[in-house]
Amino acid sequence: MGTFSIAIHGGAGTLVKGQMTSELEAKYKESLSKALTAGYSALEAGSTALDAVEIAVKVLEDSPLFNAGKGSVFTAEGSHEMDAAIMDGKTLEAGAVSLISGIKNPVSLARDVMEKSYHVFLAGDGAMRFADDLGYDTESPDYFYDEFRHQQWLEIRDTDDFQLDHSTKKEGKFGTVGAVALDVHGNVAAATSTGGMTNKKWGRVGDSPMIGAGNYANNKTCAVSCTGSGEFFIRGVVAYDVSCLMEYKGWSLEKATAEVIQKRVLEIGGDGGLIAVDAQGNIAMPFNTEGMYRASKKSTGEEIVAIYKD
Ligand code: ASP
Repeated sequence: MGTFSIAIHGGAGTLVKGQMTSELEAKYKESLSKALTAGYSALEAGSTALDAVEIAVKVLEDSPLFNAGKGSVFTAEGSHEMDAAIMDGKTLEAGAVSLISGIKNPVSLARDVMEKSYHVFLAGDGAMRFADDLGYDTESPDYFYDEFRHQQWLEIRDTDDFQLDHSTKKEGKFGTVGAVALDVHGNVAAATSTGGMTNKKWGRVGDSPMIGAGNYANNKTCAVSCTGSGEFFIRGVVAYDVSCLMEYKGWSLEKATAEVIQKRVLEIGGDGGLIAVDAQGNIAMPFNTEGMYRASKKSTGEEIVAIYKD
């Protein structure tokens, strides 16, 4: 049996040690461990990387602690508009949705776009009609409601401000979720899901559902899922840039991810981080913020669950 690995994230941001209660910190770690274990167990049982990343992301979407699925941030209109993407490194097939509401697990709808439509990216009403055609149930807004995020939105709802969930003004609840995995068959996959930014308007879409920006997978190189200020990750075509540095320059996963996060993203003014796995099962989880909710596990034994810079 080949080696396998998985890494997950729950967003990067101003996560400074000591700002959060130890109870809350424990809850975050518990949720991260739960998602990690779900994905890892699937890989251990021989499931594909694609299944494992979907399984792990669904666990994170179901937790109100993270800005994806249940607990997504509020838009300027006081609703939830979610984005998600998934990509299979074996076939380079991908699926993505954006501006969807009421769907419990956006990552599964993204996978259905990949597997059950001829398209890669469906948005808004059209994506919702596609979900309806497939028989998806929709949850009421109450399901997605989270008191903390509602307060976050009330503070800026009458302004032109929009903010990353992991704003410096807030402690506690941060970001987008994602997973990357290498399976026993040697295939990699990536999935990312988000509620985007608080008070976003005009149909704002971030990097998370954009293939190559916030999410990318290619067996030749790696699988990547990003988190951070989406506008910069789109402009930097971040996930694909990591893959390109590996493919065209022959760089290692570690060198390519460090170059992109610690140099290129910073140079254009962006902040955030990413998780990545290569076809050998190496994992990199760099970030240029104070912290990033993250966890990883390799079949060779190494396991990490962390929030802050070490
Ligand atoms: N990248 C996401 C976006 O811009 C936000 C995040 O990572 O928390 O929509």
